[in-house]
Amino acid sequence: MHAGYLRGSMAPRVHDSLTDATIPMPRRTPGERSIYVCGPTVYGYIHVGNARPPVVFDVLVRHLEAQGDRVTYARNYTDVDDKIIAVALEGGEDPRAVAERFIVAYQEDLAALGCRPPAIEPRVSTTIPGIVAIVEKLIAKGHAYVTEEGDVYYDVATFADYGKLSKRKLEVQKAEYGRGKSGETKRNEQDFALWKSAKPHEPAGARWPSPWGDGRPGWHIECSAMSHEHLGDTFDVHGGGMDLKFPHHENEIAQSEAAYGPPMAGAWMHNGFIEMDIEKNAAFSPEVLAVLHADPELRKISKSDRPKLEALRARKDALTAEERALEQIYARKVRFAEWFQLRRLRARIDGEAIRYWILGTHYRSPLAFDLAETPDGEVRFPALEQAEKKVEYFYDTRQKLAAKLATAKASGKKRGDVAAELVHAFDASLDDDLNTAGALDPVNRLFARANELCDAKKPEKEELDAVLAAVTHVTRILGVAEADAEAFFARVTARRIDARGLDRSAIDALVTERTDARARKDFARADEVRADLVAKGIELRDGPTGTTWRAI
Ligand SMILES: [Zn+2]
Repeated sequence: MHAGYLRGSMAPRVHDSLTDATIPMPRRTPGERSIYVCGPTVYGYIHVGNARPPVVFDVLVRHLEAQGDRVTYARNYTDVDDKIIAVALEGGEDPRAVAERFIVAYQEDLAALGCRPPAIEPRVSTTIPGIVAIVEKLIAKGHAYVTEEGDVYYDVATFADYGKLSKRKLEVQKAEYGRGKSGETKRNEQDFALWKSAKPHEPAGARWPSPWGDGRPGWHIECSAMSHEHLGDTFDVHGGGMDLKFPHHENEIAQSEAAYGPPMAGAWMHNGFIEMDIEKNAAFSPEVLAVLHADPELRKISKSDRPKLEALRARKDALTAEERALEQIYARKVRFAEWFQLRRLRARIDGEAIRYWILGTHYRSPLAFDLAETPDGEVRFPALEQAEKKVEYFYDTRQKLAAKLATAKASGKKRGDVAAELVHAFDASLDDDLNTAGALDPVNRLFARANELCDAKKPEKEELDAVLAAVTHVTRILGVAEADAEAFFARVTARRIDARGLDRSAIDALVTERTDARARKDFARADEVRADLVAKGIELRDGPTGTTWRAI
């Protein structure tokens, strides 16, 4: 692929939450981009919704890099937090060991989803000096104050722009909080902690010395300190889930801009949620639906669903009709919560397929997590299973293209206009506020064209080359079907035969038996063995070097 070929992308635009407008992606330095995305609090396995920002921003980084930009991408780990301390206390573990364990788990989960690690992955535990420095600066400038207990709070009333991101006026917030409810040591209820003094029961791994006594940082200050340490007073794009707009990002702005002056970020990008719709694909009776529709709160998935379900089941024979309906609703919510854990879902759906499914919806739109239950209790994932079939089709097509290219003849003519147009449309969609959903349309047309060429008797090598280059471009930026096809099929096959309780060596033996039968021209036996394998969901591929198989 020569450099002049891919000219689809020129000027990416993004939706900026601060101005609520789609603007040219800001940058301070030509040829460079700086991006900060809020990362996870590492106290447990992540759910599918947590995977959306890393996938979305991974595609953004790949897209910018394909244009020749040098991207500095930072995503933090919140490895100091009340929830981590709670898990540590419960298990008698060191809080840092808890955090370390779930950082490794997070990295494994995201690697399975094709996310490349950001260049910079700062942690709170290693940023304490930087955090103390910004807190000192805010105190010196009159934006923060120290209480008798050794806590430090940000004085929200000192920052005139407070509320500019979330569009919440301070007066309104005061009214919401109510009068006279201020914490005893806080000046205003809206003031938030920059530094929390250590409590006696908190373990050693969760406290650090500071000018205000032993303690640990509040949540919001870490991102101001880490982004400053790695990206400077101001950087190009700040990203995260829309739930972080308030208070987290509002507070980051108040801290960073009060401490350093310039706007913290040139643009703020917020992704929408992945939602669980328990009604979709549910086999609820009209009676159950009536109960569900009567109370909107019932749709929300919560930690109390399981205890409520168990309580109902404990009284199994004495349930009213309404309680029987509730039992079904809670059972379904518990199912959703179980499968929403990314690690669990990955046991059923390949990570690349989960990624493709996420990219099928624009990052700012809500995305519905889908789950169906068969009458015999089997859980299926219609949309995700479809996404997995699509990824298989992409890999299959790449293999076919490579095989076809090996024998294709050059015509000497220049070909590749169709491929170039599709790449242009793909890049243009991504330039348009990272419209991955729109970009999949040219991708699908490109793969359709690739299959046409592979099925043609004598396709020209020039066009095959152009299509393969375009396929390589789009799969690299999407981060889907970009890896080794055989490794993908081996992984998916291993998972499927395991799930069906099949034994690899038994399948190998049947394949050999069929090959032997064919060799001695016992075609009846060969067909019989083949039918047996097909019934097990095994697809045979006869090639010049023998027969291979896959689970489908
Ligand atoms: Zn943050």
